[in-house]
Amino acid sequence: MTIAQINTDRLLSFISQMAKIGATKNGGSNRQALTNEDRIGRDLFLDWCYAIGGVSRLDSIGNLFVRFEGKDPKKLPILMGSHLDTQPSGGKFDGVYGVLAALEVMSTLNDQDKMLYHPVEIVVWCNEEGSRFIPAMAGSGVFTGNLKQSDIYSAIDEEGISYFDALTATKQMGSHPCQAFPFSASLELHIEQGPILEAEQKSIGIVTGVQGMKWHQITLSGETTHAGPTPMSMRKDPIQAFITLLPKMYEKVSEYGDLARITIGKLTTIPSSTNTVPEHVIFSLDLRHPIQKTLEVMTEEVLNLCEEIPAMFSSEIELLWESPAREFDPRCIDVVRTAASDLNLSAMPIVSGAGHDSVYLSSIGPAGMIFVPCKDGISHNEKEHVEPEHLTSGANVLLHSLILLAEEKGE
Ligand SMILES: [Zn+2]
Repeated sequence: MTIAQINTDRLLSFISQMAKIGATKNGGSNRQALTNEDRIGRDLFLDWCYAIGGVSRLDSIGNLFVRFEGKDPKKLPILMGSHLDTQPSGGKFDGVYGVLAALEVMSTLNDQDKMLYHPVEIVVWCNEEGSRFIPAMAGSGVFTGNLKQSDIYSAIDEEGISYFDALTATKQMGSHPCQAFPFSASLELHIEQGPILEAEQKSIGIVTGVQGMKWHQITLSGETTHAGPTPMSMRKDPIQAFITLLPKMYEKVSEYGDLARITIGKLTTIPSSTNTVPEHVIFSLDLRHPIQKTLEVMTEEVLNLCEEIPAMFSSEIELLWESPAREFDPRCIDVVRTAASDLNLSAMPIVSGAGHDSVYLSSIGPAGMIFVPCKDGISHNEKEHVEPEHLTSGANVLLHSLILLAEEKGE
């Protein structure tokens, strides 16, 4: 039996035409959620879908679904989705690749007049990036009941425009209520956005799950004073507490092995003045681990270190955000592994370090992801690059995973 292959030239053409909308000076894309560029990109995508028989609908949070009927319309649909919105200086592939590869997969099946048993729906999740409207993954979050539609509607961008107003202004407010419906499986193809596959020289990542994440803000407080007259021994400088705490935190996280992550990405002092000992040191703490239980124990131990700072200082801890670790559906993982093996592609299991719409999807149904390597692991950057060979391999794995799932005749 010959194995069907997607059309690489057409896939590359979809990607390069989409990248022209909101193109940035350095070769990236700026199509932030619910901007005019986002709308134009979605319309272009829809033109391509309509040409092969797709039927579209929008929901009330701006998620876009394109349905392709199956031989048995009573069967639950299989979802293939990702996002078309980008960071302000984003790349051409993050999210976009997953949507356009799904389109290429349906175009390949259309070329062959092949109708699958299950209906298929390509989904464009709205406001995945969270760069214009916080939080990220808003569309999939509301769809799965993890976020409230009213909260998302009232999110405001930097210019004071609400999500609701942007949704209506760009005509992305759909007539269908945003609510989950049963699906047979959901697949998301995405660039890795990290360096592992490239370093391991693999073309396919079989994503087994997504790291759990916990974000805290920690404030260490002392006493503000003039930088000159106060002797060092008489100061309550919270920087002193910070520098003793910092190595202990890194040390603690390293005890949890290679899969654990600690990032202190934000650091400020108050008052921020060169000749003043600060009263407060405020920093963010991003902790991650793929096993939820481990993440919880590690977080508790790291936060407990704040109690070990000298008594003259005080500490305050605030939880900012958290997303639980997820393990993807075993059948989806297995199907991706089988597809990669049938296609003779080098593949390895991998845990996603970034959040994705599939994390929310996996909270209500069977979901899986496929990764391809990106150059130097660089993403959220205009330099983001993926070799055409990997783009093709990923789309072929998506095609064959879909066929394996959608040709199942039993219930
Ligand atoms: Zn993405």
